[in-house]
Amino acid sequence: MVVTLGPATDGLVLEPTHTPPCAAVLSVGSELLLGDLTDTNATWISQRLKEQGVAVVHHLAVRDDLDELVAALRWLAARVHLVIVGGGLGPTVDDLTREAVAAAADVALDEHPELVERIAARFAEAGMEMPPANLKQARIPRGADVFPPVGTAPAFAMTLLDPNPTRVVALPGVPWELKQLWDRHVVAEVTAIAGHRVTVTRVLHVVGRGESDVAAVVEPMVGGRDDVTLAFLARSSEIEVRLTVSADDRDGALAASQPLVEEVSAALEGAVAAVDDESLEQAVIRQLIAAGQTIATAESATAGGIAARLASVAGASAALVGGAVVYAIDAKHDLLDVPHELLAAHGSVSGPVTEELARRVKQRTGADWAIAVTGVAGPGTVDDLPVGTCVWALAHPDGEVEVHTRRIPGDRAQVLGRLGTAAIDLLRRRLAMTD
Ligand code: ATP
Ligand code: MG
Repeated sequence: MVVTLGPATDGLVLEPTHTPPCAAVLSVGSELLLGDLTDTNATWISQRLKEQGVAVVHHLAVRDDLDELVAALRWLAARVHLVIVGGGLGPTVDDLTREAVAAAADVALDEHPELVERIAARFAEAGMEMPPANLKQARIPRGADVFPPVGTAPAFAMTLLDPNPTRVVALPGVPWELKQLWDRHVVAEVTAIAGHRVTVTRVLHVVGRGESDVAAVVEPMVGGRDDVTLAFLARSSEIEVRLTVSADDRDGALAASQPLVEEVSAALEGAVAAVDDESLEQAVIRQLIAAGQTIATAESATAGGIAARLASVAGASAALVGGAVVYAIDAKHDLLDVPHELLAAHGSVSGPVTEELARRVKQRTGADWAIAVTGVAGPGTVDDLPVGTCVWALAHPDGEVEVHTRRIPGDRAQVLGRLGTAAIDLLRRRLAMTD
């Protein structure tokens, strides 16, 4: 069957000679189209290409069908400088990448004796007879450059000439093989096309402000700069501001982006919790250790989740003391002596009870700071409070306790995640103020 890509795509023709160089990822395998497999290879490849300054303009997935594969290769080759094909290099009848590239290039497949030997040797090492089907893995489109296999599948690169020169790199779908071949051979292929410029993305993790609010601050600072690409990524509990810059090398890109990272952080007035690979939790533990201070938690809604998030940071033991999971109403009394009268008067999800939990866990553990949280994570309600009602309290080293109440949107997991983030971020902000 020949696929007609349809008139809707006609307007999409890109000029492949435009700069910067652009690429496409073509993922091969019926499982991808059946919804059985997530295309993590395409994501990984896009990140690698971006780092080398190559814009990925198409992701395409095709079934194990020769005509569809050839059509896809031709369509992409007319639009980009580089096509990375992942998958379809195995020994079975549905592995058709070799045949498809040969057909798209209008060349024959040649059997490579050194590859036959290599494949046979692998089977011999395992004490097995080589099945004749595996011989097809030794057939490579004429004119291609062969990458010796790291697993069982030989990979290759070749240039399609029609309608304009396009480099096609065919890699196995098995992720670890693909990644090894990438480092050994594909980086050099990409450099040949893109030159030596590298691209670095600086990531500002913004907590406690909405996406449109953040965009309104940052867009005017970056708008008009053609050396910086700006993107926003809304995650469950934070907004990532992503600033992508290109330079001749990584250090140059880092240096070029640093003033902008600092300007944007200042403009967001303390909402930038961490930069690049650091997380909110890592930033807080780092600040606590620098201040020589400790933290404890008393957790109702999150049931230890906040302590666990802090404990996931290497070196947390220097700052995290411990705390109490005070989930049931009785536990708030039995473990931390919150008076029955206070619980009866206000209910467990309340400012006074949460404040008391923070105060008492700080006293009990001797920590410098203490976080306490209560909330209605849903789907059921507590004391007729709306789902999402959350209270978080922070006991300061001087004994003062501040309390915040808000209705947090989202499903149960989101409410708990966002409540934890709000509480940890409050500590981060207060630590930053005492710097
Ligand atoms: P090869 O070219 O090595 O034969 P293939 O795609 O033909 O690769 P498959 O048998 O389809 O091989 O897949 C091999 C393994 O690689 C599977 O475990 C599959 O989960 C994984 N895989 C294949 N393609 C992808 C992809 N695009 N993203 C993530 N994993 C993938
Ligand atoms: Mg396959």
